[in-house]
Amino acid sequence: NKLPHFAEGKVVKGFGRGSKELGIPTANFPQDVVDKLPEEIGEGVYFGWARVNSKPVYKMVMSIGWNPYYKNKKKSMETHIINEFEEDFYGSELKVVMLGYIRPMRDFKSLDELIKAIQADIKEAEEKLELPEYKEFRDNNFFRETS
Ligand code: ADP
Ligand code: MG
Repeated sequence: NKLPHFAEGKVVKGFGRGSKELGIPTANFPQDVVDKLPEEIGEGVYFGWARVNSKPVYKMVMSIGWNPYYKNKKKSMETHIINEFEEDFYGSELKVVMLGYIRPMRDFKSLDELIKAIQADIKEAEEKLELPEYKEFRDNNFFRETS
């Protein structure tokens, strides 16, 4: 078990898959951050905590998938922070801790099914992160040091 996994880096442009249009924007990490992901952490949806610059620490769901830029030979890490931000934060420093696994990646028959699945992921993340064993990571030193 390779969790918790801590990661940090600057938010880069994703593949423009229209996550924002679905109401679920996902902030992408650059490839060098993704390359530090242990091989044991496979494709799927994970939950944890995230912080952008010196903003508060929020709950997040993250999908680990395959990066189309690298012909799906390298992974991608896309974080949806469970908070409404007033502005985009491309170029900002993003810190995350991945704590648990929710489900494998799958193909959805419709956009509606996809959105429902993500809403269920968000609900699960919100609940799990209230458990003391996960909640304590919100106050971890990793988030406290500001860069
Ligand atoms: P891209 O393909 O560039 O990743 P998205 O549609 O997935 O585009 O939008 C991601 C961007 O939206 C992030 O890089 C960030 O700047 C912004 N954003 C705004 N709110 C959030 C949020 N709650 N979680 C993640 N990203 C957000
Ligand atoms: Mg995205």
